[in-house]
Amino acid sequence: MTDAPAQLVITGATVLLHDEHDALHVLPERTIVVRDGAIAAVIPDAEGAATPAKETIDARGLVAMPGFINGHTHSPMTMFRGAAEDVPLEKWFDDFIWPMEVNLTDRDVALGAELAVAEMLLAGVTTFVDHYFAMPAIAEVVQRTGIRANLGLTFFSDGETGLAESLAFALEYRGAAGGRITTSLAPHATYTVHDDDLRATAAAALEHDLMVHVHAAEDRRQTAHTRYARGMSPVAILEQTGVLEARTLIPHGVGIVPEDLPALMRHRDHVGVATAPRGYLKDSAIQTPVRLLAAAGVPVGLATDGAGSNDTLDVWESMTLLALTQKAFEADATWMTARQALVHAFPQGARAIGMQQHIGRLVPGMRADIVLADLSAPRSRPVHDLANTIVYAARSSDVVHTIVDGRVLVRDRRLTTIDPDAVVAELEPRLATLTDRSHGRTIQAYTG
Ligand SMILES: [Zn+2]
Repeated sequence: MTDAPAQLVITGATVLLHDEHDALHVLPERTIVVRDGAIAAVIPDAEGAATPAKETIDARGLVAMPGFINGHTHSPMTMFRGAAEDVPLEKWFDDFIWPMEVNLTDRDVALGAELAVAEMLLAGVTTFVDHYFAMPAIAEVVQRTGIRANLGLTFFSDGETGLAESLAFALEYRGAAGGRITTSLAPHATYTVHDDDLRATAAAALEHDLMVHVHAAEDRRQTAHTRYARGMSPVAILEQTGVLEARTLIPHGVGIVPEDLPALMRHRDHVGVATAPRGYLKDSAIQTPVRLLAAAGVPVGLATDGAGSNDTLDVWESMTLLALTQKAFEADATWMTARQALVHAFPQGARAIGMQQHIGRLVPGMRADIVLADLSAPRSRPVHDLANTIVYAARSSDVVHTIVDGRVLVRDRRLTTIDPDAVVAELEPRLATLTDRSHGRTIQAYTG
């Protein structure tokens, strides 16, 4: 067995390694050996560079990082990128997005998702957590393009079949694409799904060991509205309906308030938050209370949300914005260091979505989801502290190679499994129909 050539050997890399205590180590001149889609060894070049391999990458001058994790997105919404700008949230939903989503076909969803995957892979994103309609079409894109994803079929409480369909999808597709697809139950939000359905969701999640991916406490106004209407916070609704007993992912969490902390702390070993700073800058809202959550031991990962609000699916950018916006939010230049931002991007980002056994650290046994970046551009030189350079000076366009399960999906800045021009060529003629709102119909009314 040991004589069999490795699937992939990367030599000469400077490896970013988080240990089990989330401390960062920078290891120069390292060889990464990949077997069966997993990291088999990270060893000095002197010991490993000559390992026989089916495929090799000379990574001298490159930094090896874990793949970025997009902890919350709506991947097909690339098709609405720039279609609803400079409006407040309720108008964004009621006047633009929900009337436009009436027009969607499965093919539109597939094209939007494929464009999203192209963008994410080029930016070093190797895992995304998706929440949308027509999820089988997205699963097919994940299968074909080689990326990793956790997929949840969105449902509202506007019919009897929503939860049943979300559960059927989750059970049918979990473990698909050679294990690259994991699944969640995806009630839209605490304000669009009734408590009875949330209770049934929690029971199904526990019975089948599925994560619940649900919008709750997205911003402070939504929290205030729910407290006024229901006499409790959105997080309290999640606890009261039993959702927090299951593995739960709360995107944004900007509206999490101090009174929510006891409930979150009780469940912090299986509850996470995914923060997407850019959309909240545009929405003129405050940011996720990461400092509060950190003190409570609740893991916080990074996300972009959909491109309809966030414009980019660039998690590297989210990491930079996390550091910048947290300093402004807390009015404290010493809070959210570059090192801490890297922890949220990688090991804690994996914990927030319950995948810490598989991704988020470049150590043996983890899946071989690896990004190699060239930080030699003038704006990144010189390097005093690599963490500072990565978070504040470098950017996602410095990604040269992106690898998932040991398979090279971006090589020398070119996608190996997607032709993005062909995707855009098919998508563009559909845009007039997609953005038509003259029918006067909508899929929901915003009540958050
Ligand atoms: Zn969302």
